[in-house]
Order: sequence, then C-alpha cells, then structure tokens
Amino acid sequence: MTKIMMITKEGEAFLARIQEISGEAITACDQCGTCSGSCPMASEMDITPSEMIRKTQMGQQDVLSTKAMWLCAACFACTVRCPRGIDLSKIAEALRQISLRQAVDHIDIAGIPAPERARLPQIALVGAMRKFTS
Ligand code: SF4
Ligand code: SF4
Repeated sequence: MTKIMMITKEGEAFLARIQEISGEAITACDQCGTCSGSCPMASEMDITPSEMIRKTQMGQQDVLSTKAMWLCAACFACTVRCPRGIDLSKIAEALRQISLRQAVDHIDIAGIPAPERARLPQIALVGAMRKFTS
C-alpha cells in the first residue's frame, strides 16, 4: 500500500518561509530528478538536490542539518535544465540563511589547523565567508 505523506502546519510555515526568501515556486517541482543528474556536486552531497527540494516541499526541517545546501556551488547547471524553471541555488541559499539565522555555524575557520588553512585556496575561504554573510 502506498504511504501518503502529509505536511504539518509547522512544515507549511517552513515551506512558506523558504518560498518567500528564495522567490522560487518550490511546490512546482515534480521530482523529475534532472537537477540531481546535472549537479557536479551531487556525489559529495548527503542528499541529492532533488531530495533537498522534496524535503523542503514537505516542510521537513531536518533538511537544515544536511550538507547538501552548503555544497551547492550555485553553478546553475540544474537551473538551466529544470523543466519547471526552478533555481535550486536560490533554495539552497534560503536554507543556508535560515540555518545561519539560527546561529548554527557550518564552518569554524579558526578551528581549521594553521597548516591546512595556509594551503586552502583563497577562493574557498571567500566562498565560505560569502555563505556566512549572504
Ligand atoms: S529538475 Fe526541477 S522539477 Fe526536476 S526535480 Fe529538480 S527542481 Fe524538481
Ligand atoms: S546550482 Fe547547486 S544544486 Fe544546482 S547543479 Fe549547481 S551545485 Fe548542484
């Protein structure tokens, strides 16, 4: 028997907030999976881009504790291919903003050992800081 998933009131509020911040029609996603198949970062993510949007659609706030939203490089490979015209990078950005507003830091730059910090490409640090200040 097929299990029907229901969204809770709290989940609806979460979805509405992400839609408001991102400006994206999240409920228009039909889970075709094109984004996951196009994403150059998908192999490093703990959930795929299409799972990220599905969890958001269902108001599942545990999406905030996944790595995927932090690994989205805003490359737009998914955006240009999405048959529903959804820009997933904006959704990832909205999820990061919600997470950051909860004061949950993803990267503790001071906690990276000095030798590794010295070897890090500058662009990686700039990218990380932009995600802090978006
Ligand atoms: S490509 Fe677009 S419609 Fe398809 S799963 Fe990804 S976000 Fe949804
Ligand atoms: S914009 Fe983000 S989710 Fe979309 S393909 Fe690029 S890295 Fe993946």
